[in-house]
Amino acid sequence: MSGDRQATDERRGRARLFAHEAHLRSILETIPDAMIVIDGHGAILSFSAAAERMFGYSEDEVLGENVSMLMPSPDREQHDRYIDDYLATGDRKIIGIGRVTNARHRDGATFPIHLHIGEALIDGERVFTGFIRDLTERQQTELRLHDLQSQLAHVSRVTAMGTLATSIAHELNQPLTAVANYVETSRDLLEHPDPETLEIVREALQECAEQSVRAGQIVRRLRDFISRGESERRVESLSRVVNEASALALVDAGVRASEVELRLDRQADKVLIDRIQVQQVLLNLIRNAIEAMAGSKVQRLRITSRGEGDEVHVTIEDSGPGLTREVAAQLFQPFVSTKAEGMGLGLSICRTIVAGHGGRIWADASTLGGTAFHFTLINAEGTGDA
Ligand code: ADP
Repeated sequence: MSGDRQATDERRGRARLFAHEAHLRSILETIPDAMIVIDGHGAILSFSAAAERMFGYSEDEVLGENVSMLMPSPDREQHDRYIDDYLATGDRKIIGIGRVTNARHRDGATFPIHLHIGEALIDGERVFTGFIRDLTERQQTELRLHDLQSQLAHVSRVTAMGTLATSIAHELNQPLTAVANYVETSRDLLEHPDPETLEIVREALQECAEQSVRAGQIVRRLRDFISRGESERRVESLSRVVNEASALALVDAGVRASEVELRLDRQADKVLIDRIQVQQVLLNLIRNAIEAMAGSKVQRLRITSRGEGDEVHVTIEDSGPGLTREVAAQLFQPFVSTKAEGMGLGLSICRTIVAGHGGRIWADASTLGGTAFHFTLINAEGTGDA
């Protein structure tokens, strides 16, 4: 008798559990965030319907697999260590905090996400639940990127700068045209010099000098505008800045086709920088790389960092067509662009910012087939906490 009751209780218990689980699943299926549950070894225990849509895998394919398969490098190789470090030290780098980072789709494409991780103990076993929002869609970006607002504000300042640059180009044209006219007139007058013409030439040259000063002032205004604002240098984590910048650049480009690989030197992670400005450099270089690869079959982007003495060397390279000869000859000069909508200011801004940080910037060919842009920052490893 009691055996029967026990069996009935068990059946009821299972049915309740099943109903509970079905209810939970129905809730999970309606939220746009993907939900992935993993155990303390990184093995996937549950993969929601939204996760299936976001990553292109079915739950059956990924159950029991290591969650690192959903990440691009270097997280892909290092995720086990992240968990081990956390379990050993209890030091929370992401759990309960949430951050913008990158994920990897089944087709190899890297896409920006906002990741929030919760932790729980179930029957004495530790599980981690990740809530993931795909930031590829702009609207969601606006909702989720509030902690990156300062960066976005900066991006819009760059758009404002595009407008400003147009008017500056126009303004510059006036003194330059005046200088050209005065010089040509002086040249003609000097064919038959007499005291009177010499006096006119003297005045013309004086005008030239004044117009050149005016042109210089206009250029200085542009430079002030670029470096304006919060130029505050602190010790920052380079990997964090690179992660955010690449996620933002991908959001901005609205693409999922590029494969992004990050190879960051964890021994040289601390740099002395104005985060917003360096993010600006990275954004410009990554965006240029993505734009350069628009027509390429293979779209690979690699960001590398390497500590070299008191410098950290950062490289952004692509598998695009490389620099044209004309552009290569005047690289980093303002107003040099091969794009229909391009202002040709991105690289000159990058140079201003990098130089302001005491670094160098240059370009050469990449082993990926396209261009490699390199710049250096000040290595702050061992000087304080990021
Ligand atoms: P813009 O992007 O407005 O054209 P930039 O100063 O950022 O201005 O770039 C100047 C030019 O340099 C671009 O128009 C393009 O021709 C070239 N360029 C920059 N980055 C790359 C790259 N990764 N691959 C090929 N060409 C590039």
